Amino acid sequence: MTEKSLTNEALSTVTDNYRRLSERIENAKVKAGRTDDVHFMAVTKTVPPEIVNHSVSLGIKLLGENRVQEFLDKYESYDGDYDVHFIGGLQTNKVKYIIDKVSMIHSVDSVKLAAEIDKRAAAAGRIMDVLLEVNIGGELSKNGIPADDVLSLAAEAEQFGNIRVRGLMTIPPVDVNGSSERYFEKMQRLYADLKSQSAGKENFLVDTLSMGMSGDFEKAIVYGSTIVRIGSLLFGYRKY
Ligand SMILES: *Cc1c(COP(=O)(O)O)cnc(C)c1O
Repeated sequence: MTEKSLTNEALSTVTDNYRRLSERIENAKVKAGRTDDVHFMAVTKTVPPEIVNHSVSLGIKLLGENRVQEFLDKYESYDGDYDVHFIGGLQTNKVKYIIDKVSMIHSVDSVKLAAEIDKRAAAAGRIMDVLLEVNIGGELSKNGIPADDVLSLAAEAEQFGNIRVRGLMTIPPVDVNGSSERYFEKMQRLYADLKSQSAGKENFLVDTLSMGMSGDFEKAIVYGSTIVRIGSLLFGYRKY
């Protein structure tokens, strides 16, 4: 097979996957009795820009990037009408590279990182929207703050005039026999607590709960997710 037809095949696979996933998101919303928005984020790690652009042409408005260097290598080849959110672990010394290229950072898990984002956002003359990342399963291998620290980190974020806290993000433990449900339920409660604690505060606009990936997005929708982050079921098998 020529390279061209391989690409065409890859593109039509993404088209089919997109249709199927959109339908599943819609059905999950109906089942959950929800009429608010659930945004479909395409997670682009390892995916070539031409395929990312194809997903944008299908109607995806939100791209999720989780490696700074890979994003910097690819973003100039992106085109279309989309927003980029940074969703991966973020070292403070890398914030400066993405501050003018993304509209939200989902992975804030320390005051130090919040302070750096605030400083770089101020220098860039903007306000950066952020989510606090919660390690809801308390796993050693994962980034994020413990559930118990959410309200205190949010309170510390009040001092930063150039970030705006929009909500929470999580990657729960791998689902075993439906185990992710209780984590999503915990997140839903934390999110409600954050919302009520921050009501009326200046640099808070809590409207975003980022949870659910290829293996568990329908359950996440039941528990109020507003952004599902989907990689492998949209783009196909990934090596890592
Ligand atoms: C890779 C990744 C996803 C998507 O995972 P899939 O299981 O491939 O859908 C979502 N969120 C984050 C933070 C990721 O790194």
